[in-house]
Amino acid sequence: MQKCVAVLGGGIGGLSACYYLSKSTHVSKVVLLEATGRFGGWINTTRREDGAVFEHGPRGVRPAGAVGRNTLNMWSGENCASIFQSHHPQCDEGGPGEEGERRRMSLFTSFMSRRFGSELADIAMDCLCRGVFAGDSRKLSVRSCFPPLHRAEQDRGSVLLGLLLSGGEKVGAGGTSALARRAKAESWSQWSLTDGMQTLPDALQEVLRGHERVELHHSAPIRTLTYTAGGWEFISHHSLNRLNCRTEQTLNADHVISALPASVLASLLPPAATSLSQLLCEINTVSVGMVNLEYEGSVLPVTVMMGGAWFEETLGPPDEVKDQVLLDRALQAVRSHLNITSSPVWSKAAVLKNCIPQYHLGHWKRLDGDEAETSRNGAVSRVTSGSALMSSVLSHGRLFKNISL
Ligand SMILES: Cc1cc2nc3c(=O)[nH]c(=O)nc-3n(C[C@H](O)[C@H](O)[C@H](O)COP(=O)(O)OP(=O)(O)OC[C@H]3O[C@@H](n4cnc5c(N)ncnc54)[C@H](O)[C@@H]3O)c2cc1C
Repeated sequence: MQKCVAVLGGGIGGLSACYYLSKSTHVSKVVLLEATGRFGGWINTTRREDGAVFEHGPRGVRPAGAVGRNTLNMWSGENCASIFQSHHPQCDEGGPGEEGERRRMSLFTSFMSRRFGSELADIAMDCLCRGVFAGDSRKLSVRSCFPPLHRAEQDRGSVLLGLLLSGGEKVGAGGTSALARRAKAESWSQWSLTDGMQTLPDALQEVLRGHERVELHHSAPIRTLTYTAGGWEFISHHSLNRLNCRTEQTLNADHVISALPASVLASLLPPAATSLSQLLCEINTVSVGMVNLEYEGSVLPVTVMMGGAWFEETLGPPDEVKDQVLLDRALQAVRSHLNITSSPVWSKAAVLKNCIPQYHLGHWKRLDGDEAETSRNGAVSRVTSGSALMSSVLSHGRLFKNISL
């Protein structure tokens, strides 16, 4: 029997879920509900009329591994191919790219010191953790944050040997697209788009709007989620009616895929799923101060990200930090790190609250727990709401699994 699937959250995770679901012959209808007035979630680009492009969220995607390949496969899929023709990818060419024992294996710094010596762990890997997760390398879990490193050590007993001998991850059912082959041949380490990352949700939206079995709704926050004998029932405050008032709509679906932040999903789940809600609430997030700076002349635009795991300690409570404080700190940083002393001609500062989940020790166990629970009740499929596009793409791997209804 064909199923109706509701996808909650219209970030890149939710849009990607819809894309895969729209291809399934087991699905009769897909309904996406997004709370805000736009799709894309943390992906957010300012495109100015003079052609300048500023990213307020993610700015690049790594093509490495099965996750990176899935993403490139999706973008080079029949309908999305045009985004790569009209908005050329810009690539950085680079290299290829429980207690006791469990604790020893999982903490990032101890893992790296054991393998590469404490100096590299302290400096290089700390930078990696800050750059990708805005997090503290002494608390993050290798297994959850950097799965290829963990797999390499498990398989070969050595990170370097494992990475060298693994010959890349196995190619999944989707095969390898021309774009993914090109990324490999040209050794891309990262790609972005000339018109900004917002191009990705925009393109997916366009593709999905042309699909008769898919409905996309923005300005439609989910308020409640209940499970009945007939399937899932949820209430959404839907579109504005003719009197400019929000109407409440009750919707039904056989399956739910959540691409919501973990804490939001936790607050919506019914009492029967209390243990899942508790697990979701245990996933910490950090806030980030984001400042975009534009300069006159030959100085390239600069983006400064600050805070993360050290936000409160260095800037105070995220709700109380003034944009001017962020701007001053950013200017101070570009002066001392880049020796840029001139004043920017344009700037934008914002606090992105709770924007990056932290995969701390034991995170993978939590995910397994979620999956165990979701497969037991057989109806809700949870998608990891990513901390990095990488990990939201990681959710694509999970989606492949979950959408085999
Ligand atoms: C500053 C920053 C920089 C980053 N840089 C990079 C990078 O360079 N490369 C990279 O790979 N990744 C990067 N990331 C991570 C990447 O942006 C995320 O992993 C990805 O955008 C997560 O997508 P998502 O769809 O899972 O979640 P989100 O983008 O959080 O989407 C969730 C959606 O759910 C909606 N929602 C919330 N509540 C409700 C409700 N009640 N009802 C309906 N909808 C609701 C939200 O409005 C939102 O649109 C960065 C993230 C940040 C914050």
